[in-house]
Amino acid sequence: MKTITTHYIDGAFVESHGREVMDIIKPANGQVIGRVTLGDEEDTRRAIAAANTAFASFGRSTKEERAKILRRLHQAASARFDDLTAAMVEEYGGVVQFAGLIVKTGINAFLAAEQALQEIPLIHSWGKTTVTLEPVGVAGLITAWNANALFICLKLASAVAAGCTVVIKPSELSSIQTRVLVEAFHQADLPKGLLNVVTGLGNVVGAELVRNPDVAKISFTGSVAVGETIMRDGAKTMKRVTLELGGKSPTIMLDDAALGQAIPSALIMALMNSGQACAAGTRLLVPDSRLVEVKQGLRDAMHAFAVGDPADPKTAVGPMVSQKQYERIQSYIRKGIEEGAEVLVGGEGHPEGFEMGYFVKPTIFVNVKNDMTIAQEEIFGPVLSVIAYDSEDEAIRIANDSKYGLHAAVLGTDLRRARRVASQIRAGRVVINNMADDPQAPWGGFKYSGTGREYGRYGIEAFLEPRAILE
Ligand code: NAD
Repeated sequence: MKTITTHYIDGAFVESHGREVMDIIKPANGQVIGRVTLGDEEDTRRAIAAANTAFASFGRSTKEERAKILRRLHQAASARFDDLTAAMVEEYGGVVQFAGLIVKTGINAFLAAEQALQEIPLIHSWGKTTVTLEPVGVAGLITAWNANALFICLKLASAVAAGCTVVIKPSELSSIQTRVLVEAFHQADLPKGLLNVVTGLGNVVGAELVRNPDVAKISFTGSVAVGETIMRDGAKTMKRVTLELGGKSPTIMLDDAALGQAIPSALIMALMNSGQACAAGTRLLVPDSRLVEVKQGLRDAMHAFAVGDPADPKTAVGPMVSQKQYERIQSYIRKGIEEGAEVLVGGEGHPEGFEMGYFVKPTIFVNVKNDMTIAQEEIFGPVLSVIAYDSEDEAIRIANDSKYGLHAAVLGTDLRRARRVASQIRAGRVVINNMADDPQAPWGGFKYSGTGREYGRYGIEAFLEPRAILE
């Protein structure tokens, strides 16, 4: 049983002023594995004050000083790679292989930010004008539970590269993972007050960060509903905001796709992180001419996506994070059936043998129309909707017929054609033929998927303000 009673403020672990205690539950079996004492507004204000004091000097740091800190953060986090992965598997139910990938991406974010920082010209002058890119101030970083360690590392790396000091409000469902990470950062010999972490509820700690006038910027990863609140409430203190929100990403399978590769690719994109992924490709658009083959191929390929113990390397789909999330997935599966979609694989209830914990059946719906609820709303679980189309233009129209625009994929053999289709998708990222990644490429959404970008120079620029000095 793990007990966490402290926050990280001004370079030290300090007892929580907030007294509310929350159970930490293991999603694979529903057992209580720990308790965390939640912070309150007073803890948050103390953390903001520490970050504000530290900003007076860190805000004037040089590129080289920031680069050194980023390298130390990378080293410190790397030393806890195994512990972090294990915590993500136990506390969140992340399947071990994917959890390792997420943690590695987070750790590498520090080096990627260092590289991007070296490439950003922070000073630009011409004639008698000098423009410098200045850190925006104290940043509040608020994360979701589905890749909490990655979000913390990514946001912290960009903020530090820009010269900002931070107060992190991790997901309250990720307290153990956050603790491992903060213990690691504590070894990185950071200037006091640069990094502060207060674990607590969104409407308490998160809301204080959003309304506090000493916080200049909020970088948030989470739901559209909370993103809207942050934008509205942050306006009162003119907060700069980066919002990384939801998605309902299309995977367009073109009629020349090699199904032997395209079908597993489409399933990986739909089921990665047990379907609890903002970028999950949950709408698979299939040409009418190949629908029969694709249905059979999906049914066959699903045997490779085993549900099971997230700690088992053979498992592809683990439990959902919580009972609430389990019920949310069930209600969407029911809704899909009620609205006339046909279950090809999966369906309601627990998979056989996994009645304990928050396991759901990975589910594929066919005969889905794009205006059905399951094709429009983000489910955030392993539920894939197959939608048929009759022409390339129709596929593009359906792909863009969504309030979201975070991510998309195009699967096809003729790369020129795949690129032409990709260039017409209204989404922040479009991948061709596999779940490609590049730590310098921007990440973020069009439309309701949010505002602003993370990763690389785009992520750092989100924490900078230009100042012009003219003589
Ligand atoms: P959520 O919006 O419920 O919570 C996210 C964070 O916001 C948590 O730390 C929560 O405590 C905090 N919060 C809640 N209310 C708040 C308030 N009033 N003020 C400030 N903070 C508040 O989201 P979730 O359930 O943790 O995560 C799932 C959502 O995150 C999905 O919609 C998913 O698509 C999205 N997501 C987006 C990305 C991306 O990069 N675009 C990545 C992962 C997840």
